[in-house]
Formats: sequence, structure tokens, C-alpha cells
Amino acid sequence: MSATLIDGKAIAADLRGNIARRVADLSERHGLVPGLAVVLVGNHPASESYVRSKSNLAHVAGMRSFDHRLPASAGQAELMSLIARLNDDPAVHGILVQLPLPDGYDPDAVINAIDPRKDVDGLHPFNSGLLANGLPALVACTPLGCMILAKSVHASLAGLEAVVIGRSKLVGKPAAQLLLAENATVTMAHSKTRDLAAVCRRADLLVAAIGRPGMVRGDWIKPGATVIDVGINRLPAEDGKNRIVGDVAFAEVRDVAGAITPVPGGVGPMTIACLLLNTVTAACRIAGVPEPQCMSSAG
Ligand code: NDP
Repeated sequence: MSATLIDGKAIAADLRGNIARRVADLSERHGLVPGLAVVLVGNHPASESYVRSKSNLAHVAGMRSFDHRLPASAGQAELMSLIARLNDDPAVHGILVQLPLPDGYDPDAVINAIDPRKDVDGLHPFNSGLLANGLPALVACTPLGCMILAKSVHASLAGLEAVVIGRSKLVGKPAAQLLLAENATVTMAHSKTRDLAAVCRRADLLVAAIGRPGMVRGDWIKPGATVIDVGINRLPAEDGKNRIVGDVAFAEVRDVAGAITPVPGGVGPMTIACLLLNTVTAACRIAGVPEPQCMSSAG
């Protein structure tokens, strides 16, 4: 039997619709227009395309979007001074610095310089600390999106065996914290895990955030499990263009799993929708305006 496809595109579109309604309401009732500043250093082609999508979708949702482009040669000091200006700008509620930065920049120093209240990427140690302590945080967008997708399948995650492959600050660690907060029994696997296949076979819910095309095989999956594939791997295709595949061997895993996210069209669209959600959350918290329950998934 083939697994149900978790339609990230449709779920993200639905979330963006809710966000747009909330943005209209904030503007009408409180004169508050959430503003997102996106900073791109250099001209990495994939980053250019992500930044364009983020700005466009922020506009469509009725937000203000401020694009800042710096040449790769600008240097750390100029980037830090831009961050300081954005921290002080009352029209900006969310600041996102597109990663990776070109060589010669210190990404940790840049992230640590962002006002944690405006850290809509959820990468500042202040926000990861809040998350680890079960306190309201701004949570990294991709794991937040994974949780919304998992909850579209399971009304409750309590008691589920969850396995997260990958322990990055961006995906694996916050995903595990969020699952723990939902009372799942969480195992974090990584490159030093012994017998990864056996660990994965225990999972009712498997989150793969590895960066290795098709690594998770069909015989690693517990029949009926939910599989969230975070991986975005670009492989050369016959027509000369790149083909995007996940970390999961989709065709074989689909035959065993109960539900699975496709790549593309699964986690990817949720990441940008959650960035917009975090920007609304940040704007509400900064302005002291209550966040509606249906949107308060950011901690
Ligand atoms: P990182 O490279 O930062 O982390 C990868 C993790 O996978 C590490 O913890 C590493 O373990 C683990 N790993 C690597 N090889 C193995 C292995 N053979 N067995 C078990 N674990 C392994 O990647 P990210 O977390 O940033 O991203 C992961 C994937 O998700 C990538 O494909 C990325 O493109 C994608 N991604 C997708 C997003 C989206 O919007 N859909 C957003 C962000 C990322 P160790 O720590 O031991 O080295």
C-alpha cells in the first residue's frame, strides 16, 4: 500500500492565507504592519532565489519587506552595522540574514548581533535557550514547519517514538526540542550513530535532516510510520538542469510508510510560510498585541 502524501504546498498556502488575514486584522485594529528585513550578502544563485520568494510572499501576505543586498566584499563590519540599524528600526520586526555567508564572515557573530526579539530564523542562542527550557521562543522555521506537517497527520504526538536524523542548530536540534515539548519519545541520530537503520525502524515518526540524497531506505521504516523528509539535494539531471531530491529514497519508503512528505513540495514551502508566521509573532510580541491561538505555534 502506498503512503498518504503530506501536501506541504497546500498546507503552506493555507497557513499563508491565515497569516494574511491576521496581518490585515493587525493593521486595521492596531495600525501594526509586520515588517521583514532580508539581508543577502554576495550572489549565491540558490540564495538569490530564496530571498526573492521570501520578499514576494511577505508582500502577498500584506507585510512590509525590506531587502538589503551587500556585495561579498562588503565585510563583517559593514554587515554588523546594517544589523545594528535594523535592530533599531521600529518598522522592522523580523531580521533574516540569508545563510551561508561568503567566506571571510563569522556567521555566529552575525546571528548573535540580531536583537533576539527580531530573530525570525530562531538561530540566536537566546531563542534556542528559551526553546530548550520550554519557554516561548522564536523557533527556527524549518523544524516549525515539520511540526505543523506532523500534526496534520497525528492529532497528538504524545507517546510516539520519534527519531530525528541530524543534529544541526538549524533543523535537527530544534526539531527534537519541539517533539519533546509535544511529549514524543525522542531519539537524535547523527553521523556517529551505530546501526542507524535499526534506530529508524523504531520510529513512528521519522524526521530526516541529513543532506544525503536518498539515504533513508525502505527497509529502515516501520510499516505505517510518518516520514518527514527535510533534505534538499540538487542532483544533475539528463536535461542539464538540477533535479531536487530528499534524504529519503522516496519510491521505496512510500511503499512502507503511512504518510510521507514529497521533495519538492513537502517541508520546503512550509519554511517560508513559517518565516512569515514568525514575523507576525515577533511583531505581536514587540507591540504587546496578543497572538491568536491558532497562530502561536512559535513557542
Ligand atoms: P547539516 O549539514 O548542518 O547537518 C547534517 C546532519 O546530518 C548532521 O548532524 C550530521 O551528523 C548528520 N549526518 C550526516 N551524515 C550522516 C550519516 N551518514 N548518518 C547519520 N547522520 C548523518 O545540515 P542541515 O541540518 O542544515 O540540513 C540538512 C538537510 O536539510 C540538507 O539537505 C538541507 O539542504 C536541508 N534543509 C532543508 C530546508 C528546507 O526548507 N526544506 C531548510 C534547511 C535545510 P554530525 O552532526 O554527526 O556531523
